[in-house]
Amino acid sequence: MYFGGCTEEKIQELKQVMGFEEGQFPMRYSGLSVSPTTWTKSDCQVMVEKITARLNYWTSRNLSYDGRTLLVNTMLLNLNSYWASIFLILQSVMQQVITVCRNYLWGKRQNGKCWALVSWEDICCKHKEGGVNLKEPRKWNMALLGKQIWDLAQQKASLWIRWMHEYYLKGKSVWEYNVPQDSSWHMKKLMKIRDLLKGDVQKVPWHGNGGQTYTAKLGYQWLRGSKEKYQPASIICNNYSLPKHCFISWLAWKGRLLTAKRLEQMQLIVDDATCGLCQNDVDITDHLFFRCEHSQAIIAEMQDWLGITRRMHSLNAAGISFIWKNNKIKRTVWYACLNAIIYCIWTERNARRCGSGMLDAISRFELMKKEAVWKIQCKQTRVKVQNQVFFFFLHKLGVI
Ligand SMILES: [Zn+2]
Repeated sequence: MYFGGCTEEKIQELKQVMGFEEGQFPMRYSGLSVSPTTWTKSDCQVMVEKITARLNYWTSRNLSYDGRTLLVNTMLLNLNSYWASIFLILQSVMQQVITVCRNYLWGKRQNGKCWALVSWEDICCKHKEGGVNLKEPRKWNMALLGKQIWDLAQQKASLWIRWMHEYYLKGKSVWEYNVPQDSSWHMKKLMKIRDLLKGDVQKVPWHGNGGQTYTAKLGYQWLRGSKEKYQPASIICNNYSLPKHCFISWLAWKGRLLTAKRLEQMQLIVDDATCGLCQNDVDITDHLFFRCEHSQAIIAEMQDWLGITRRMHSLNAAGISFIWKNNKIKRTVWYACLNAIIYCIWTERNARRCGSGMLDAISRFELMKKEAVWKIQCKQTRVKVQNQVFFFFLHKLGVI
């Protein structure tokens, strides 16, 4: 039992009637410490500690990029959402959460260095906008709290809503309420979010009588807005591709793979800047995909295998949609193979630079074919009847 604004006499009387012990602030609620004063950084620190602890599990440390992305998006940000739907997380704490997630994603070890290959803003974009669809935690926090504003506007039956209407709103609509100067920190912040969600009445989807019911997802979409379409997204985000192929392909298309040339641009010392595959040119993305004779041999094998005659010497040429223009399924298969090619060339290049890999183009192609085809086979049962002919054709060729 907690008291506020009561005399000692009243407190004793109430304690006697109710029979409860008097509690002391800060109290624990949802794993966080809560007090009647403004929330401090140390109050939210437990959230950052929990997130960091989950990253230190040995199973989490050895995941690939795509595994880490999934873990950050599901476990970590969901853990964060649990608190973010109740409280407005302090900016400094939110920044700490982002730093912990970003360092984990790009593989920072304790006291070690890591390089964020893509900016956090880009990572938080949707797939079709060139990101990996991570939730931006600050906007997600605001969208979740928007539910509290929506409940206030709808006058939902709850003790907190009734108290807010009695104490603050006093019969006014939450959308029209002017915040007094002496309001609490939380109330002022909540009304700032209200202003963002209020927006243009004509555009906000939840306004008006015919408007939709507010959800955190709708609010998040509204707060983040829409961005320009990223053209290679349809190649990268491919249902027939393995996630690890998609992630490396995404980095390659963005020109963010850590090639020797990029390391030099970052002013890091590189012993050997020549291509790890052919030793004949500079180690840059344009050369690896697909000017290098080794990568050219792999993509040529794949093209022969799929019956594509036109030779391709760059990512743009390989991604152009002239191939099976009118058949989405066939085109998707090609894109899945292309993602697999990019992944295998990159892993072979890394292995050779570390002195462990020396597979010839054909052996690498066979390995890659198995990986690309495995996922296609998994999807095959869902393919429409008219495209079964295509898979029959691949089957006849011994492809799947
Ligand atoms: Zn080369």
